[in-house]
Amino acid sequence: MSTTSRDARHIWHPFTQAQTAPPPIPIREGRGAVLVGEDGREYLDLISSWWVTLHGHAHPAIAAAIAEQAHKLEQVIFAGFTHEPAVALAERLSALLPGDLGRVFFSDDGSTAVEVALKLAHQYWLNTGEKRTRFLAFEGGYHGDTMGAMSAGASSGFFDVFADYLFEVDTIPYPETWTGDAETEEKEAASLATLNAYLDRHARETCALIVEPLVQGASGMRMCRPEFLRAVEKRLKDAGVLLIFDEVMTGFGRTGDLFACLKAGVTPDLVCLSKGLTGGFLPLSVTVCRDALYDAFLDESFEKAFAHGHSFTANALGCAASLASLDLLVDEACARQRADIEAAHKKGLETLAAHPKLARPRLTGTIAAIDLATARGGYASEVGPKLKSFFLEKGLLIRPLGNVMYLLPPYCVTTDDLDRAYNAIYEAADL
Ligand code: PLP
Repeated sequence: MSTTSRDARHIWHPFTQAQTAPPPIPIREGRGAVLVGEDGREYLDLISSWWVTLHGHAHPAIAAAIAEQAHKLEQVIFAGFTHEPAVALAERLSALLPGDLGRVFFSDDGSTAVEVALKLAHQYWLNTGEKRTRFLAFEGGYHGDTMGAMSAGASSGFFDVFADYLFEVDTIPYPETWTGDAETEEKEAASLATLNAYLDRHARETCALIVEPLVQGASGMRMCRPEFLRAVEKRLKDAGVLLIFDEVMTGFGRTGDLFACLKAGVTPDLVCLSKGLTGGFLPLSVTVCRDALYDAFLDESFEKAFAHGHSFTANALGCAASLASLDLLVDEACARQRADIEAAHKKGLETLAAHPKLARPRLTGTIAAIDLATARGGYASEVGPKLKSFFLEKGLLIRPLGNVMYLLPPYCVTTDDLDRAYNAIYEAADL
């Protein structure tokens, strides 16, 4: 029996209506930016397999680091024990992140990193003698699929089925912008005015604001300017409300700089990282917080401790993969690769924007996006599946978010690969 028919009998795929979706494509192996199917067909991975693959599939240096670690220690309970790869990783992340973001809490994926951030923010205020019950987020934000993460991202509209179980999170407008947008400053001013009004009324009840910095991913690669984030940071600091950067997608070079917070020149109170952390090899995440926030959890009693943990917290293989991936990331060669991608995107978007049906070209670092003008925009737009199969036919893994076509490639992608992608997007606009 083929892999596909065995899959059809027992496997339940994520984000998939199995009754109508085409059967999944069995993949035999991956090398660099290319995935190879069981039938030998090749697919150029232009979305880094859900935004995780950083340096390319099956990168030998990361594979070797995992193998070496597996022969020494694969996993140890992380309460009451520690290990070198976790300590080294925490040291390196703290050194790379701005300011006093020096305390690292490990978990498993983007959603749990966000859950941890929300819980830490809430308990921080309790530990300092204030009961705060509100959270603030941006319209269209997406932070994962667990209950707290869904609550923070409820405005994205993905979670209506679970609405009865989500806690309330207030939202403010997100000043989405693009190349040639004449209203950027107006939108930012409107958003900041709403934030000001909210803080005037609710600052003392609000634990934190959570934001996907510079790029809102799932809701359509919606971008904002660094200046805006700096203005938000200033207002929150003045009002005494914590700032959480959900860098699950934007971390590890995606925005050009190593982290969006560095690019924006903002030091948030908490940062969530996952996806590219292990180079895309293993599930692992961290929530990094400022030293002062950690201090509020120290006490003679257990009551103030953070009573949260996962079986695989700080998995040693994940930490070893992350260290190997960081070695590659901070190398000059990787900075050059990212700069080349950004330059290619810039040119590619200029050509695409000339097509009458393509609008709102936007670019942040290695992430490029453009909208196909359709009657119904957004994630629910019916053109999404049609576009996806069109690209797959051409051997390109591009998975539009509704009518939004975007590229978020592994850094080893070549400019020839990218040219293939821009050409296909141009053609797709006429489907
Ligand atoms: N936060 C952001 C910004 C994301 O883009 C995602 C996933 O796409 C998540 C959180 C959730 O991460 P995970 O799917 O690893 O739980």
